Amino acid sequence: MLKIGFIGWRGMVGSVLMERMIQERDFHDYEAIFFTTSNIGGKGPDIGMSTPALQDAYDLDILASLDIAVTCQGSDYTKKIYPELKKRGWKGYWIDASSGLRMENDSIIVLDPVNRAVIDNGLKTGIKSYIGGNCTVSLMLMAIGGLFENNLVEWITSMTYQAASGAGANNMKELVAQMTAIGAINNPDLSAVELDRLITNEMRGKAFPIEFFGAPLAGSLIPWIDAALESGQTKEEWKGYAETNKILGTTTPIPVDGICVRVSAMRCHSQGLTIKLKKDAPLDELIEMIAGANDWVKVVPNDKPSTLAGLSPAAVSGTLTVPVGRIRKMKLGPEFLTAFTVGDQLLWGAAEPIRRILNIVIEHLS
Ligand code: NAP
Repeated sequence: MLKIGFIGWRGMVGSVLMERMIQERDFHDYEAIFFTTSNIGGKGPDIGMSTPALQDAYDLDILASLDIAVTCQGSDYTKKIYPELKKRGWKGYWIDASSGLRMENDSIIVLDPVNRAVIDNGLKTGIKSYIGGNCTVSLMLMAIGGLFENNLVEWITSMTYQAASGAGANNMKELVAQMTAIGAINNPDLSAVELDRLITNEMRGKAFPIEFFGAPLAGSLIPWIDAALESGQTKEEWKGYAETNKILGTTTPIPVDGICVRVSAMRCHSQGLTIKLKKDAPLDELIEMIAGANDWVKVVPNDKPSTLAGLSPAAVSGTLTVPVGRIRKMKLGPEFLTAFTVGDQLLWGAAEPIRRILNIVIEHLS
């Protein structure tokens, strides 16, 4: 019986992974061992069957006994533990939501509805590390994978509208605290201009909670995500190019660039895309390619009622659907296509590719 370890199962990504695995009845026919960095001997998640007490996530002997390790613990953990396991000659499979090993030559970034062939080839050639991609990149590829599949993309600009959850649980809570502080000012007797003045003062005041974001997000936005790079990009922007091309396994890299912006959505990332096509193609054919690429992408007609009903974080949050709408040719020329897409960054952006690669690896080993 396979021995599979879960590390980081109670974090934000880990708990969404557990939820999805329970929903899909994934826990069967293998021994599941849960780990912790903070509560050794404690109780694991309720997965509908008994599991042993929580094991020490730094215990290399137990980790080395696993056939598959699934971690959502973060890249510091991966960078500490993975090399130690490898030094011991561990031959198991490492499945990871963090970016720690993403760009290593002997790892594959997993998004199986888009790159199943790359994954299958990796399994065949003995690759042992399967890593979840950056949320924004995965959601963009889920949305317009059909255009890549048909080799139509010359380059892409992605302007993002990214949710608080991408920055972590504390940031989500801080966003709500900011909203609460603003909400407390509300007074229907005041004019809109007076209300705005009070809210702006509140946002600029010393008491406004900005410990985690470093700036107001509610009622505002933050056009900077992650660390600065010498290129002038942020690391989040750099990932668009690096990870898209690694996921697709391109031989001639496709340029992808844009500005990544944090907005006050809770857990759905949105992106406005400008796509330079390699050649002109009729809009209805392009839409058909986009719609047919996988079971989760959904084309939203380019009209106001459909857009308001289906193309927003409020409509998409908590679902696996990846809507893409506002699709039209641009005034820039017939080879320029624009589109807007939304996706739950904790599902397709994080937990779901991990859940699915675990099942693929199990199937490979069976
Ligand atoms: P997280 O919520 O901070 O959880 C990571 C670990 O923190 C948990 O496994 C838990 O470990 C510990 N922890 C401490 N206090 C906790 C508390 N009150 N509640 C829950 N856990 C607590 O991290 P995450 O956002 O899930 O991210 C995990 C990894 O996935 C990161 O590398 C991240 O970059 C990557 N990722 C995140 C996202 C995202 O949207 N957040 C998307 C894609 C990839 P113990 O149980 O051992 O204490």
